[in-house]
Amino acid sequence: MHSETVAELIAGLKERKYSATELAREMLGRIQRAQPELNAFITIEAESALAAAAEADRRLAAGGAPPLTGVPIAHKDIFCAAGSRTTCGSKMLANFVSPYDATVVARLRAAGAVVLGKTNMDEFAMGSSNETSHFGAVRNPWDPSRVPGGSSGGSAAAVAARLVPAATATDTGGSIRQPAALCGVTGIKPTYGRVSRYGMIAFASSLDQAGVIARSAQDAALMLGAMAGFDERDSTSVDAPVPDYVGGLDRPLRGLRIGLLKEFFDKGLDPAIEACLRTALEALRAQGAELRDVSLPNLPLSVPTYYVVAPAECSSNLARFDGVRFGHRCEEPRDLKDLYERSRGEGFGAEVKRRIMTGTYVLSAGYYDAYYLKAQRVRQLIASDFARAFAQVDVLIGPTTPTVAFELGAKTADPITMYLNDIYTIGANLAGLPAVSIPCGFVQGLPVGLQIVGAHFAEERILNVAHRYQRETDWHARAPEAYR
Ligand code: GLN
Repeated sequence: MHSETVAELIAGLKERKYSATELAREMLGRIQRAQPELNAFITIEAESALAAAAEADRRLAAGGAPPLTGVPIAHKDIFCAAGSRTTCGSKMLANFVSPYDATVVARLRAAGAVVLGKTNMDEFAMGSSNETSHFGAVRNPWDPSRVPGGSSGGSAAAVAARLVPAATATDTGGSIRQPAALCGVTGIKPTYGRVSRYGMIAFASSLDQAGVIARSAQDAALMLGAMAGFDERDSTSVDAPVPDYVGGLDRPLRGLRIGLLKEFFDKGLDPAIEACLRTALEALRAQGAELRDVSLPNLPLSVPTYYVVAPAECSSNLARFDGVRFGHRCEEPRDLKDLYERSRGEGFGAEVKRRIMTGTYVLSAGYYDAYYLKAQRVRQLIASDFARAFAQVDVLIGPTTPTVAFELGAKTADPITMYLNDIYTIGANLAGLPAVSIPCGFVQGLPVGLQIVGAHFAEERILNVAHRYQRETDWHARAPEAYR
């Protein structure tokens, strides 16, 4: 059962090959056994999962059950779930039990999915290696001495290790695509506004977007269809119908115009990764796609732009964690100022503090124009570059990451080196575009990701390209030896 995809599990449950309860037990057992090595979960919710599975079995027996009934999933611990501990990877929220459901959580529950637990993540989603989590680093199932990527490293590792067939995730600067690439799984960040952010703990509100990590484009399409759509409780959610993502998967690629970004195939890219990508591009060309060179001249500015905008928004969003309303409170505060200072000083980790300080600085009266306003202008230039590119091509293809998974600890001492991991992913966030990462080969036994970026609301198209590639290749179906 554990090696089956979401699509296969839906069929298996319907045909009574196994019950939702058997399935949940099997996967919970795998999660528990993997936990000492991978640390992919912050909270394992066996009791509520088995109750939900029993309910799923009743619905399946009664007939007319919703599409994902009985399918086991996990949520990144950034999503509030009623009655569940929701930590966001931080000591600040280590004991926070949410009184309500995020829209994503509510929709997947309504679709019948059974939640097995909450996955580990970088603290407040700030990181590219999952090493900033208060609950300890996650390890890559392909090689436990290496990072799984971040910030959705727990979701990516759990899907790669066959602990769940799919998990929710979020992407502010690459946190779905980068860990998906490093763990050899499929991860989609939808268009900004496609999926509700209600109940998703905010990092940088103009960039944050919820999505999914699964093992195939088909499974990602099944999950996204259940999560997406307008939500009146998120003022930036878009009121547009959700297409049938699964229905569009098989469309032939004949005539598809693929743009190769000059700036993505730059000198920072590992030549062995580039070789995997070139082979994949040939496979797409063999299906009738055309390749064209495209340049986005302002794209190299995306990392510095992001590391002004994201910290600015985080410094504002994280002001709510003050020791009064949410989470950690220091012992015996002397006065209000002491309460704020010590609660925040004790509750946040080093990377979060670095971001809050940077953000406060770039928003301060004397520096606002020089940093924040300038970064917003450059962001606009980057978005315009993408818009021009999409007038010429249907999708842009390039690498997801400059290297394969690196050793734990290799980049923790130097934040700038860590930030440069996001060089190929951040552009899509700054421009609000949808993008998917899919496995396209291995370098030294470690997975390589290929990224497909689409125009606004072209989720259907990028999933279609990903699916057509996955029909012809089996990179996405491979599993780490210890977790087959
Ligand atoms: N790695 C990036 C950062 O640290 C992106 C994180 C994310 O997408 N949540 O900010």
